Amino acid sequence: MPSGQLDFIPAVGTADFSPEQAQWLTLANRLGRERFAPRAATWDREASFPFANYDDLREAGLLALCVPRAFGGGGADFATYCMVGAEIGRFCGATALTYNMHICSTMWTGVLSDGIDMTPAQRDDHQARRALHFARVVRDGAVYAQPFSEGSAAAAGKAPFGTTARKVDGGWVLNGRKIFASLSGAADYYGILCTEDRGDQHPDMRDTLYIAVPGTADGLTVTGDWDPMGMRGTVSRTLLLKDVFVPDHEQLMPRGVYYRAAQTWPAMFFTLSPTYLGVAQAAYDFTVQYLRGEVPGQPPVKRRMYPTKQIAVAQMRIQLETMRSLFWRAIHEAKPNPSKDERLRLYAAHSTVMEGANDIARLAIRTCGGQSMLKDLPLERLYRDSRCGALMLPWTAELILDRMGRETLYESGERDE
Ligand SMILES: Cc1cc2nc3c(=O)[nH]c(=O)nc-3n(C[C@H](O)[C@H](O)[C@H](O)COP(=O)(O)OP(=O)(O)OC[C@H]3O[C@@H](n4cnc5c(N)ncnc54)[C@H](O)[C@@H]3O)c2cc1C
Repeated sequence: MPSGQLDFIPAVGTADFSPEQAQWLTLANRLGRERFAPRAATWDREASFPFANYDDLREAGLLALCVPRAFGGGGADFATYCMVGAEIGRFCGATALTYNMHICSTMWTGVLSDGIDMTPAQRDDHQARRALHFARVVRDGAVYAQPFSEGSAAAAGKAPFGTTARKVDGGWVLNGRKIFASLSGAADYYGILCTEDRGDQHPDMRDTLYIAVPGTADGLTVTGDWDPMGMRGTVSRTLLLKDVFVPDHEQLMPRGVYYRAAQTWPAMFFTLSPTYLGVAQAAYDFTVQYLRGEVPGQPPVKRRMYPTKQIAVAQMRIQLETMRSLFWRAIHEAKPNPSKDERLRLYAAHSTVMEGANDIARLAIRTCGGQSMLKDLPLERLYRDSRCGALMLPWTAELILDRMGRETLYESGERDE
């Protein structure tokens, strides 16, 4: 087998992978097949966090996938992470989605920050602080969460975060509330997006700060129930921050840099897509297996001879290939300051994956029929999980359409009288 080739078909489809990509994909596929898939129903039934999967990810070095090599990590780039995320999502959606939050914490401070303008002093500060965060991941296997949602327009990128950080001697004092905080109670650190409280009552999005709060910090509590329809293993409960003090070195990005990153690196919000491409692939895989009478533990009844089933599988495949193609192009075009054409394609890719995942799962249920909905088979879970992608901010299905329409019809700065 040539070094960049695989002996399985990954969720992103066959392609000319680099030897490193092939290695990471092989690892993700093996862990997913052997460990994550058999455990997925348990996290879903209990709405409990997949700690055992995280032990495996840690042991395999996958927690440090996107930590730059200079800091002892895997040095994977944006596209490589997206391929690996999709492969994990194929076997356990909740693990892939929470893994995304962790990986983003290392990618935003790593490769993404490298592409953002900083003053030499900011660059030096950032270099010193991220060394500490990366060491926690590489050396201690620490897990970072990424709670930014607040139930306001902030997570949609349209208002300052209501959670605030006030500068005090030696650090920051944080106050606020984050909803839907995946990995709540499970993460070692929470990368909190908040607004600097300058004491002038005029919060400004340009003053967004990105600060790590240790899970053990005084004043941090996890509250609320968690009994959702899908992605139940993400355990996305509410975080309350009441006068939480953290030292200066917990800042994950220098002042002002997150705002610039969100403006210049739009693909940073695309990273929720890989999970759902993986979920779509899983629904497709199951349908093919089921119609061929090859689902382990099930009677070997074949249903593949009916033309309607064949047509449905063809429709699913067409949709899957559309998702894969746009996904592939988007992850390779991802960079700071993409052209308008690239940006619109990125939105189209995100929307196609998020809406398509649920569509493929819907077709899978219709095609496989009533027995496929039973809880001892994975399809009904995949269907519920697939519904969640299009709800995730900042690029929900609705907000993507808003953005695409507006940014197509208006050039920057244009207004109607
Ligand atoms: C399984 C799961 C895990 C999650 N994990 C995380 C996490 O780890 N970290 C995190 O930060 N968040 C997380 N989220 C939260 C997610 O990103 C959204 O913030 C959350 O689903 C928003 O719910 P809401 O109903 O309060 O949204 P609302 O803000 O009430 O929005 C409802 C809908 O209205 C539309 N809308 C919202 N704002 C605007 C606007 N300004 N203009 C036009 N339309 C608008 C959008 O389409 C949106 O779907 C998770 C969500 C799920 C489902």
